Amino acid sequence: MAFELPPLPYEKNALEPHMSAETFDYHYSKHHQTYVTNLNNLVKDTPLASQSLEQIILAVAKDDTKVGVFNNAAQVWNHTFFWNSMSPKGGGTPTGVLADAIAKTFGSVDKFKEEFKAAAVGQFGSGWAWLVVEGGALKIVKTGNAGTPLTAGQTAILTVDVWEHAYYIDYRNRRPDFVQTFLDKLVNWDFATANYAAAIS
Ligand code: ZN
Repeated sequence: MAFELPPLPYEKNALEPHMSAETFDYHYSKHHQTYVTNLNNLVKDTPLASQSLEQIILAVAKDDTKVGVFNNAAQVWNHTFFWNSMSPKGGGTPTGVLADAIAKTFGSVDKFKEEFKAAAVGQFGSGWAWLVVEGGALKIVKTGNAGTPLTAGQTAILTVDVWEHAYYIDYRNRRPDFVQTFLDKLVNWDFATANYAAAIS
């Protein structure tokens, strides 16, 4: 069965003024949709067509002849994860087990935000910053282009997209302002906490 663009978890204008409906018109309806369309075309009539998205990503990650499949499959997965990493009721501070783990790992939520922002801003060119769990420990990592923590044996907890298409309409070239707004106003701590609880259980 062909892959489909998953529905957004909120309306396109729900994150305004921090992220505009126009950004979603391009970023979700065009970029994300294109990755889905490309992936379907690339796996059509191949054994990969019956695999899950995660299975495809892991199957082709080290295959130099399937770079296009990897890039499109990983971008489909990364973007869906990114939409869920934000919420109209986002921002604030984490609670529960994730709050405890962040305090223990980074010292405080503010220190976590500083380190996460530094990773996101420091990613040269297109890519992603992530909060992940690896071997039971929280860590901040960044990936270039379509890179995804799935292939590093890490469990994704939270991500921000730092491709220019994520912020250029609303923030122009000001990636640091975009990432700061993501952390202060958009981040979906409920989603991150659920991911963390599942990762350590
Ligand atoms: Zn993107």
